[in-house]
This record gives sequence, structure tokens and C-alpha cells, in this order.
Amino acid sequence: MKQMEEKILREGQVLPGDILKVGSFLNQSIDTEFLGCMAKEFARLYADAGVNKVLTIEASGIAIAAAVGMELGVPVLFAKKHRTSNVDGSTYSAKVHSFTHNEDYNVVVSRDYLLPTDCVLLVDDFLANGQALNGLMSLCEQAGATVAGAAIAIEKCFTGAGDALRASGVRVESLAYIESMTDDGVVFRP
Ligand code: 5GP
Repeated sequence: MKQMEEKILREGQVLPGDILKVGSFLNQSIDTEFLGCMAKEFARLYADAGVNKVLTIEASGIAIAAAVGMELGVPVLFAKKHRTSNVDGSTYSAKVHSFTHNEDYNVVVSRDYLLPTDCVLLVDDFLANGQALNGLMSLCEQAGATVAGAAIAIEKCFTGAGDALRASGVRVESLAYIESMTDDGVVFRP
């Protein structure tokens, strides 16, 4: 999506540790008009995938997921982040290593909201090492739900995680594919 690449080039900031800061339109301040464009593009890509639920992780994924859910006309579910794993039988839970905070946490959803009949579109702001997506896929597997694919705003291709997921048969669609990023700038996959 050309607009996403332009937005990153104009407003993105490369921070130490391979972090791209996009607080001006995605992670803190949200450009709602642009969010609508992103959601339309994801809805176009997954129009025929039979999606009946969108699943993301709090917090940054929620706005994108809500916009995509509205566009597809389906409900949105977000997994909550818990520091401890207090498995009480009423939830599905998976351990995830946070890329940005370098610590482990659990992603948790209620069994009441993720169902074996669900065909789920996974949504997130970034795909780096694939930990967050793997956690969401684990929740779906535990629930017996089908994963239609993943809709990612910005994929950091240089980690190889997105391509590894594709090679394993998971559909992953991203709006920008970053090949490399340095202080000199961001380079997108051609
Ligand atoms: P992964 O689980 O794929 O390693 O990392 C994805 C998660 O880490 C996303 O949910 C996102 O919140 C965060 N993340 C990874 N890389 C970046 C980045 O460069 N910038 C920001 N803002 N978040 C990132």
C-alpha cells in the first residue's frame, strides 16, 4: 500500500533496537482518515476469506482491528495481556515474548468469545519476530477456530518471520514491507 510507505517515510522515526516509531498516526495519535484507508484495504484483501471475527492483542492492535471489523461487518475480539498465567479454565492463554519490552507476558481470551465455529482474521500493527501472531494463532488453535490469515500494518521483513509463516501455510498480508531500516532511512521490499 503506497500510502503506508509514504506515511512511514514522512512520519516514521527509526529508534535504536530496530524499533520504528509511528506514534503520529498509529501508536499514540491515530490518523482516523488513514485508519479508514487501511481498514478498506484489509477488507478488500480478505473479502472472500469467510472471516466472521477479527482478533488482535491490546493495546495498539485494537484501533486497527475495530476499523477492520467495521469494514467487514464482523465482531472484534482483543486478547488481554496478563503478566501471570492464572489459568482457571474459563480462558485460553498463550505466552508471548514482547519485542518492544523484552519480557514475557500471557495473552488471554475468554472461552465465551472465541468459538470453534469462528473463521478468524488476526490483526496487528507490527510483525517483527512473529511472537504476537504465534500467540494469537495458539489461542485460535486452543479454541478449535480457523485462522483465515493475518492483516499487519507494518511488516519488518528482515526478521524473516513473515515469510516463515507464509512458508508454513499462513496467509499474511501487510500494508508495508520493510526490507531494512537504519538511521539513513527505511527501505521497502520492491
Ligand atoms: P513480534 O511479536 O512479531 O515480534 O512483534 C510484534 C509486536 O511488537 C507488535 O504487537 C508491536 O506492538 C510490537 N512491535 C514490534 N516491532 C515494533 C516496532 O518497530 N515499532 C513499534 N511501535 N512496535 C513494534
